[in-house]
Order: sequence, then C-alpha cells, then structure tokens
Amino acid sequence: MSYDDSGDLILTALGISFSFKGFFVEGIFELGGTIFINSLRMLVVPLVFVSLVCGVSGLSDPSKMGRLGGKSVLLYILTTGIAITIALIAALIIKPGVGFQRPEEISYVVNEAPGLVEVVINMFTSNPIASLAEGNMLQIIIFSIVFGIAITKAGDSGKKIQNAFEAANEVIMQIVNIVMNLAPYGVFFLMARLGATIDLGDLTYIGKYFFLVLAVLVLHAVVTFPILLATLARLNPFILFYKMRELAVFAFSSSSSAATLPITMATARSKLGVKKSVASFTIPLGATINMDGTAIMQGVATVFIAQAYGIDLTTSQLLMVVLTATLASIGTAGVPGVGLIMLAMVLQQVGLPVEGIALIIGIDRLLDMTRTVVNVTGDCTVACIVAKSENELDESVYNDRSL
Ligand code: ASP
Repeated sequence: MSYDDSGDLILTALGISFSFKGFFVEGIFELGGTIFINSLRMLVVPLVFVSLVCGVSGLSDPSKMGRLGGKSVLLYILTTGIAITIALIAALIIKPGVGFQRPEEISYVVNEAPGLVEVVINMFTSNPIASLAEGNMLQIIIFSIVFGIAITKAGDSGKKIQNAFEAANEVIMQIVNIVMNLAPYGVFFLMARLGATIDLGDLTYIGKYFFLVLAVLVLHAVVTFPILLATLARLNPFILFYKMRELAVFAFSSSSSAATLPITMATARSKLGVKKSVASFTIPLGATINMDGTAIMQGVATVFIAQAYGIDLTTSQLLMVVLTATLASIGTAGVPGVGLIMLAMVLQQVGLPVEGIALIIGIDRLLDMTRTVVNVTGDCTVACIVAKSENELDESVYNDRSL
C-alpha cells in the first residue's frame, strides 16, 4: 500500500477505535509506532547532509546561497512574528485565564533552555562528525553549505565528489520512498498508541485555553499562509493545502517536525515543485527554526498563565514575549513537547511563574500534534515563496492536481 492510498485514513480510524487502555495491544502499538518514528529519524541526518551538499554544489552561482538564506530566515522570522502577535491579541481579547480556578498545589520542573548567545555559538561545530552523530541540525546545515561551496571551488576533484553525492542522494531518496510506503502502518500505530494513552479529563477545566489555541492555529493556517502565498508568490494556496494532506497526517501523528522532515522534503520536491537547491536548504532550516504553531501556543499560554495568576502584562512584557518566542524557536529542534521548554524560557524572560506550565501540560499532547501540522505547513509555504522568487519553482508540478 502506498502513502497516497485512501486506505490510510481507514487504518488510522481503526487504530483509534482499537485503542483500549490497558489492553496488551498497547505494547504492540508502542512497538510499531516507535520503530516507524525511528525509521524516519534514521533518514534525517543523511538526507539533510547529502541533499544540502548536492543543492549547494549544484548552484550555478554559489553567491545565490546568501540570498536564499537571507530570504528564508527573514520569512521564517516574519511568519513566526505574525503568528505570536495574532496569538497574543486573541488571548488578550478572549481572556482565557480570567476567573480560572488554580489548583492549590502545582509544580513544574523547569527544563534547561539554551541562552541566545549559546544558540549562536552552538551553530558552529568544532567536530562535524560529532554534529552528524548527534543530529545537530544547525551545525549540519552550516557545515554542509561550506562543504558544498568548497566543492564548487575544487575543480576536477570537486566534480568527482559532487557526482558521488548526487549518486548517494538518489539512493537516499529511494530509502525515503521505502519508508513512506510504510507510512500508513506507522500512522496507524501512532494514532492507536495515542488513543490508548491520552487523557481528555483535563479538557473540562482548561477547555477555553485549549480551544483558543486551536482556533488561532486554524486561523494562522487558513488566513496568514494563503495571504503570503497569494501575495508574495502568486500561487493558489488551496493547491498547497491539498498536496499537504498526507504530510499533515504524518506531522499530526508523529508530533515532530524533525521526524517528519523526510516526508516534508519529498512533498516539497515532488508535489509542490520546489527545486532541490531550494528545498534541500529551506526545508531542514524550517524544521529547525520555524515553529509558527509553537509560537501560537506560547502566546496564548503566556497570557493564560498571567491571567490565571492575576498578573497584568505590560506592553514591554508583551513585546518581550514576541521577541523571546521568535528567537527561542531558532535554537530548539522540532521534537514532541519542545514547545513547553521554549515556553519556560519565555515565562522566565518576562518574569511570570514558570510552574504555571503545569496548568496546561495535561492537554498539551493534542495541541502539540496540531501545532506540528502548522509548523510544517509554514515550512512548505516559505519554501514555495522562496523558490518562486528565485525561479526555482516548477509551477507545472505545483499546479498538477493529480500529484
Ligand atoms: N512538536 C513540535 C514540532 O516538532 C514542537 C512543539 O511545539 O513542541 O514542530
């Protein structure tokens, strides 16, 4: 069965309906889901390294790299900034935390969040093999770009290495295909596991926050992205949504834009028509630094926690939230639940009680899944806009609805 078959959804639905707490099948769901996620994560490092080296070394004009990078980073920061601003405005209007009855005793253990200077220093590796082994995405991206540029300057030897990387790229794309053919089963296990472990009891007391985050996520996806696509790239946004359907199912069930990366890359290249030189750079960068959905959760959560504790946020605190949330997303990889670590960083920065996170942690998994879909939608949107502006978008592929 291929990932495109409509049977995916039936399998997924079956997965959910079979999920009874405590059943021995729970272990099987866990096993199948984890093996599938690992198969995807296994692809991330070789895929990013090899395809980025190919993308950069294949550029007719390597100075294009600077422009490409500038545009991508700018657009990623812009979309994240818009996302968190909408979230803050919505939360200030709807006031999800006013009148909220805080439980007497709550506690939250603060995880360590990286400082900003540390984030920048950490982008430069002292040992590329260690970076590859650890899967440190920003270090891999920078090293691959330098490596790719060096290939273009190395004459005949460079050409040989480039050919070897091109060949390796073909092979890796075949592994991506194999894993994607397993995706319906993987999604089944992941959804079934979720069904067996999730507790929706918390929704009764935290519903206002939950639905507000959900509404802003939907708003950002169906309003901000289409406006940007239509105005900056003159592309039909409905086509993008249509072509992202399988990608969205996977992002949702895996809750990780980093693990979804191979599928995002394949979608951008073969369904949206983003050429390799742009996709190989913009998509991995996006999976690491672009988290619009996560920023939305942070915006609403900050206001919610402030209101739940009866604290009025000043304008400068709100601006600080926009700034910290945008920058925090740069240094953290897209894995399940990382949004809460970033939220701890934001709360600390503006002087709000970090233990307030305990109030929202119970229902975070469902929001995490949804915001991951928004995160990868943002990555694809920006990749299309950058590709179009660089003449690296194959519009016949983008507009081909049979793909
Ligand atoms: N799970 C999200 C992602 O991978 C990050 C988060 O919001 O926690 O994109």
